[in-house]
Amino acid sequence: MKTSPLYLNGGWVSTQTTLRVVNPATAEPFAEVCTGDRKMVAQAVADAHAAFPSWRKLPAKARGDYLRKIAGELEQRRDEVARTITLENGKPLAQSRGEVDMTVAHLLWFAEEAGRCYGRIVPNQADGKRHLVIKTPMGVVAAISPWNFPLVLAVRKIAPALAAGCTAILKPASATPLCAVAFAECVEAAQLPKGVFQLVAGKAGEIAAEFLANPLCRKISFTGSTEVGRTLIQGAAAGIKPLSLELGGHAPVLVFEDADLDVAVEGVMITKFRNTGQSCIASNRIYVQRSIYPKFVERLVEQTRALKTGDGLEDGVQVGPLINEEGLTKALEHIEDATRCGARLLCGGKRIARKGWFLEPTVLSDVPARALCMIEETFAPVAPVCAFDTEAEAIERANASPFGLSAYAFTRDLDRAYRLMESLEAGMIGLNDGVPTTSQCPFGGVKQSGWGRELGSEGMDAFLETKHVSLRVKL
Ligand code: NAP
Repeated sequence: MKTSPLYLNGGWVSTQTTLRVVNPATAEPFAEVCTGDRKMVAQAVADAHAAFPSWRKLPAKARGDYLRKIAGELEQRRDEVARTITLENGKPLAQSRGEVDMTVAHLLWFAEEAGRCYGRIVPNQADGKRHLVIKTPMGVVAAISPWNFPLVLAVRKIAPALAAGCTAILKPASATPLCAVAFAECVEAAQLPKGVFQLVAGKAGEIAAEFLANPLCRKISFTGSTEVGRTLIQGAAAGIKPLSLELGGHAPVLVFEDADLDVAVEGVMITKFRNTGQSCIASNRIYVQRSIYPKFVERLVEQTRALKTGDGLEDGVQVGPLINEEGLTKALEHIEDATRCGARLLCGGKRIARKGWFLEPTVLSDVPARALCMIEETFAPVAPVCAFDTEAEAIERANASPFGLSAYAFTRDLDRAYRLMESLEAGMIGLNDGVPTTSQCPFGGVKQSGWGRELGSEGMDAFLETKHVSLRVKL
């Protein structure tokens, strides 16, 4: 079994301790990655701090050029990196290729954004004074990423941090560290100066404790569960450590009777089954207006039954395995709980009898609001549907959640579309669109779904300090 080293201060470092990477399609380990301890993380922070002055001094264009080189390396290795994502995460190969493409797009976007960190000059408010607002990089950034989109969600942090002039240390999810190793190889091939980007792996709590306590680490950018986000907020209190948090979601979908049914069913299929339902912006609660409810449910069940589930490396597979036994058990519990609460199981609902963590794509109808799947993320290919009567009721039910990451609505009524975009409590709203993410627009949540935004121009702000310079001048 191949063991990958860590990437620290411009070199590859092997350690005595490792973690095993398991293929969710077979439940068997196939690779190992070295792990580091807290002392090693402290050294990485010191090395990142040492690399910071010269990295920030580079012209923005030069930092952008480095990002373009990394993007070029990744693009050349597209198929191989996509295969790695499928092996460690399980998602179908076509979706892994899509993840690599989106990562490249993010790198190219932030390569350009490096040159657009504009400050401003404010008209003077008193004689002999001039006011400048300037933006400067924060310093050493720690990035902690999840397993569900293991490459793109890590790079969403690293690319803007580097573009802003910060140096960065990545701690990927333990389930999916291999594409982070591939990314570090691309960084090495692009010849970034040592210490500008580093990769550590190991015990999350221990690594995060060093990031939180070390005063040289100026920012933690985290994507993962709301539960871990909460512990980071607690840990950040002592040092008032700035945090960006991309946390859990519980997206509602509202399908109105005036919607184009083909567009609505297609949109729901994407939001629900992409990445085997393991997406923070996956639809969790599907509300359909009563007059079209039977027709919509029939179409949804028909298309769900037609999905091909299997090993993501096999041709034509649309739904892969869940990430681990725990994920599968949680999904089965949610299905059982929903039926106990009175929901009807229309298709799927069972574990697939083969190696790995496979669940039949599932549709549940008439799911009551008290069912667990209407409250917590199921993170699985399980689609709970129920009916609503009025627009006001739909909006109220959509907003009745502590989460607010994404929301979706299908309608052809322009007035209604405006009412929805203004009243739905979510950071991202897909109107007649099940795939709202793009490099150029902000991504993030309201309520317990997080703090701050990634991507767009806002994605740079997370790594920049804003300073007001008040200048007395003799004119
Ligand atoms: P997770 O368990 O919170 O893990 C995320 C990352 O945090 C991993 O690298 C994990 O390391 C690390 N971690 C675990 N315990 C930690 C601690 N005490 N301190 C600091 N870091 C710690 O989440 P997940 O299961 O990987 O991801 C699924 C969740 O992420 C879902 O809730 C999903 O909605 C959310 N998510 C949100 C977004 C968004 O943009 N808002 C995007 C994707 C996913 P180990 O792997 O080593 O434990």
